[in-house]
Amino acid sequence: MRKYVIAGNWKMNNTPAQTRALIEEMKPLVADAKCDVVICAPYVDLAAAVEAAEGSNIAIGAENLHWAEKGAFTGEISAEMLKAVGVKYVIIGHSERRQYFGETDLTVNARLKAALAAGLIPIVCVGETLEERELGITVETVARQTKIALKDIDAAAAKGVIIAYEPVWAIGTGKVATDDQANEVNGAIRGVLADIYDKATADEMVIQYGGSMNAGNAAGLLAKEHIDGGLIGGASLKAQDFAVIVKAASK
Ligand code: PEP
Repeated sequence: MRKYVIAGNWKMNNTPAQTRALIEEMKPLVADAKCDVVICAPYVDLAAAVEAAEGSNIAIGAENLHWAEKGAFTGEISAEMLKAVGVKYVIIGHSERRQYFGETDLTVNARLKAALAAGLIPIVCVGETLEERELGITVETVARQTKIALKDIDAAAAKGVIIAYEPVWAIGTGKVATDDQANEVNGAIRGVLADIYDKATADEMVIQYGGSMNAGNAAGLLAKEHIDGGLIGGASLKAQDFAVIVKAASK
């Protein structure tokens, strides 16, 4: 049985003070969750988030990391720095980073190796653009992204990697993939994982769906065989909505 993981991605929202207030609001609402609950916040909010979440069932994640241990990389943050402030999870290869900040499949692979080496739990995002879906290359696209992300990572380490299927056309647009569309691609990703590793490994790995998941549509998506949780953008900025999603994953 795979344990569901519900992770919020706050993107570029909230100051440290707002972070503390929102986490305090969320804590009692998700206290009885039967899934893993994660909030991924901007770098400058991480210390406040870790402090506010202490003693609760909310784990804190970052939204990116650099692959190098240290050095002349102005503006970047290493895995060791994240670990030092108490971060447990890290998002890698979000489509907004691929689209606006030059993230490639190879840099995703480099970041993933750094995260695993440091003992962070990575959430690796894959997903097709609208153009790729219309060209009928959705599965090829996510297969390529998944294979390159996991290059040189063995089965034992891969079991600790979370994959988030996030169709780019569904992120922040209000256009959610249907339950069946999402499940079909998540199932295809599980097939790719079985090809790279073996069926047992693939069956253990958590594959989330992300893209306009909200309080109204989460239960339907999460009921599907291959959807093991969600990566939630907009709805994770509202404590009540996020709590409804956590509840839907707590069956
Ligand atoms: C995301 O940022 O990963 C995301 C899924 O955003 P939203 O839920 O707002 O579509």
